[in-house]
Amino acid sequence: MIPLSRPDITPADRRAVARVMRSDFLSLGPELPAFEREFARFAGTRHAVAMSSGTAALHVAMVACGVGPGDEVITSPFSFVASANAPLFVGARPVFVDIDPATLNIDAAGIERAITRKTRAILPVHVFGLPCDMTPVLAVARRHRLTVIEDACEAIGAACRGRKVGTFGKCAVFAFYPNKQMTTGEGGMLVTDDARLAAHARSLLNQGRGGSGEWLAHPRLGYNYRLDEMSAALGRSQLARLPRMLRARARVAAGYRRLLSGIPGLRFLETPRGMTRSWFVYVVLLPEGVSRADVQKGLREAGIDTRPYFPPIHLMQREWRGAGRLGLKQGPFPVTESVAERTLAIPFWTSMPEATVRRVAATLRRVLSRA
Ligand SMILES: *Cc1c(COP(=O)(O)O)cnc(C)c1O
Repeated sequence: MIPLSRPDITPADRRAVARVMRSDFLSLGPELPAFEREFARFAGTRHAVAMSSGTAALHVAMVACGVGPGDEVITSPFSFVASANAPLFVGARPVFVDIDPATLNIDAAGIERAITRKTRAILPVHVFGLPCDMTPVLAVARRHRLTVIEDACEAIGAACRGRKVGTFGKCAVFAFYPNKQMTTGEGGMLVTDDARLAAHARSLLNQGRGGSGEWLAHPRLGYNYRLDEMSAALGRSQLARLPRMLRARARVAAGYRRLLSGIPGLRFLETPRGMTRSWFVYVVLLPEGVSRADVQKGLREAGIDTRPYFPPIHLMQREWRGAGRLGLKQGPFPVTESVAERTLAIPFWTSMPEATVRRVAATLRRVLSRA
């Protein structure tokens, strides 16, 4: 089976992790601060705070930005579920705004209409590594004095008019799950220019420990969201070749774009002018009227894995009390709902061989010609 994604692990990565395994520090050792320093340099922010996952970093971002019970956070219903869960963790409510059909990112024009007296923050998601246009988002945030927190988990290295994503908000979050552009196994990172926010985040992720780092002094409620040394070492090794990995991913994407062109009705998510994209997954929009299930079946029979990406968050069946507060019903976000019925992620990874790209593209073309 050709998988949907595959981590890019080199002998140097394995050596970096093995070195940690031979040391005395499996957690809170020297790799963690080095990874944070190097990541901040790459991201273009003053501070970077590593955590055990992107979701953990989103949770900490909520607390550190003062989002709390009764607050509303404006975000996209077309995202990985973690971005909507983060406000719920702190007793706040995600308020969804429909997406722009061209970029699949939150439609900035709709944000202002969703603002109420309870709105505290805007959480744009740079979906699939295509940057959300931050100029109108920042403008509306400034007008209404709202905090902007970027979910850049899918967009490491992407830029909006020459400025890197993750540098626009009060803070931003990146993630290193194995299908992301770079991985630490599990892992995430909060970045910010605000020294106090960074210190607060560091305390929250480490059981609420005080700034002095004094052993067993915990002045506030905190969590254990620490990133271990094996993961930090893998992160450093991956980060060192991230620019090369991003270029390789762009080449794979360009290959797909070329090989799949001319299929009637098939839509691509093109990169708007002024935006620098970081390729997370390769998603196409199937022609209207084509059964996605049939296309997936045809590809599966040819040994190719695919996935619908994303099911809308507001339509998810949820068994817990958050469901009621999310107002789960079909209808209010027509762009998200129609796009989500047609998206298909096809196999995509950094070192994907050209022959495999060709095979997937040719099979998709054949399956669609019969659909
Ligand atoms: C990957 C991802 C996250 C974080 O995921 P983790 O698995 O917790 O690292 C958050 N938001 C989006 C949009 C993501 O794609």
